[in-house]
Amino acid sequence: MPQSADKILDHELLFREPEYQELFRSKKENFEFNHADVKVAEIRDWTKTKEYKDKNFAREALTVNPAKACQPLGAVYVANGFAKTLSFVHGSQGCVAYYRSHFSRHFKEPTSCVSSSMTEDAAVFGGLNNMIDGLANAYNLYKPEMIAVSTTCMAEVIGDDLDAFIKNSKQKGSVPAEFDVPFAHTPAFVGSHVTGYDNALLGVLKHFWDGKAGTAEPLVRSPDESINFIGGFDGFVVGNMKEVRRIFELFGAKVNILCDPSEVWNTPTDGEFRMYDGGTTKAEVEAALNAKATIIFQEYCCEKTARYIAEKGQEVVVLNAPVGVAGTDRFIMAIARLTGLPIPAQLEKERGQLVDALADSQAHLHGKRYALYGDP
Ligand code: SF4
Repeated sequence: MPQSADKILDHELLFREPEYQELFRSKKENFEFNHADVKVAEIRDWTKTKEYKDKNFAREALTVNPAKACQPLGAVYVANGFAKTLSFVHGSQGCVAYYRSHFSRHFKEPTSCVSSSMTEDAAVFGGLNNMIDGLANAYNLYKPEMIAVSTTCMAEVIGDDLDAFIKNSKQKGSVPAEFDVPFAHTPAFVGSHVTGYDNALLGVLKHFWDGKAGTAEPLVRSPDESINFIGGFDGFVVGNMKEVRRIFELFGAKVNILCDPSEVWNTPTDGEFRMYDGGTTKAEVEAALNAKATIIFQEYCCEKTARYIAEKGQEVVVLNAPVGVAGTDRFIMAIARLTGLPIPAQLEKERGQLVDALADSQAHLHGKRYALYGDP
C-alpha cells in the first residue's frame, strides 16, 4: 500500500495511487453501473449548447426540498432574542440537544436552552412534575430575568397544558408569582420552525400586552411615533440586524426591535462565556404596543403575530425580506412613509454605488456568457 507511517499521504494524493484507481474502477464497473465515460462527456458537452440553455431557461417552476426544522427550533430562536431570557423547552432532552447544537454550529456560539427532560413516565402520567422541578432549577441555576417556554412533540401528543402547568409551578414556588414566563405551544408535527417562531413571538407579546397571564392589568395602547421591527427567523441575523439598526439610526427614527438575538450569537472571543447578551428588553416589548406601525420581514414567520399586532391598532407592513436593490428600496420607502422622515443622503449615496457595482458585475457576467454560448 502507498500509505505508511513514514510517509502519510493526504487523501487527495493517496487516491491517485494505482491501487485506489483500480479500486474505484472496479467499484464503478461492478457495483455502480454508471453511464460510460464517453456518454458522460457527451452530455457535459451538450450542457454547453444553445439547445440546453434554451431548455434550461424555459423552466417555469422549480421545486427544491425546503430546509425545514420543527417548531420548537423557532421558539428557541425567539427566546434568544430577548434580554436575559432562558429558553425552556417542555419535552425530551434529545430534541433540545438538537436545537442547541443546530444554533451553536450555525452561529459558532454557545446557545443556551434547557429542557424539562420528560421521559417515559412523564409521557404516560403527564409532565407537570418535570415542569415544576425544571422551572425551579432553571430559575435558581441560570438566574434569568425571563423564561420562555415552548414544547416538543412529546408534550403536545399527551396534551400538556402550559398555562395550567406554569400557574401550578408558581403556586408550588418554582419561580416567584410575578416572574415572567411567557409560553407558546409549539407542536413539532405542525408547520415548521417558522411556525414556531410565530407562535413563540406571539406568546411573548401576548404575555406583556395582555396582562401577564392574569397577574397584571392588560396594557393600554397610547400611540407614539416609534416603529416596531420584526426580522423573522434569520440565519444571517448577526449581520442583518446591525444593518437594520443602522438604517433606522440614519433616519433618526425611534425603533423597537422585537426579538434581536444578534448580540448573544456574536459575543467576543475574550474567554468569558456570556449566557445572555443583548436582546430586546421587557421595557422595549411593553413600549412596542404604542408604536405607530410594525415592519415585518418574512411574512410566513409572523402570520399570527401580524394579525395580533394589527388588532391592537397598528399598521403592519409585511415585506418578504429586502432581497436586492428593489427589496431594499421597499424597506426604505416604508420607513420614510411611516415616519414622515426624508430618506437620508447617505442611503441615497450607497444605493447609487451599489447600482453601479451591480451594473459592472452584470457586464462581467455577460462577457462570460458570451464566451460560453456566443452571441445570445
Ligand atoms: S420533531 Fe419532535 S421529536 Fe423531533 S426534534 Fe422536533 S420536537 Fe423533537
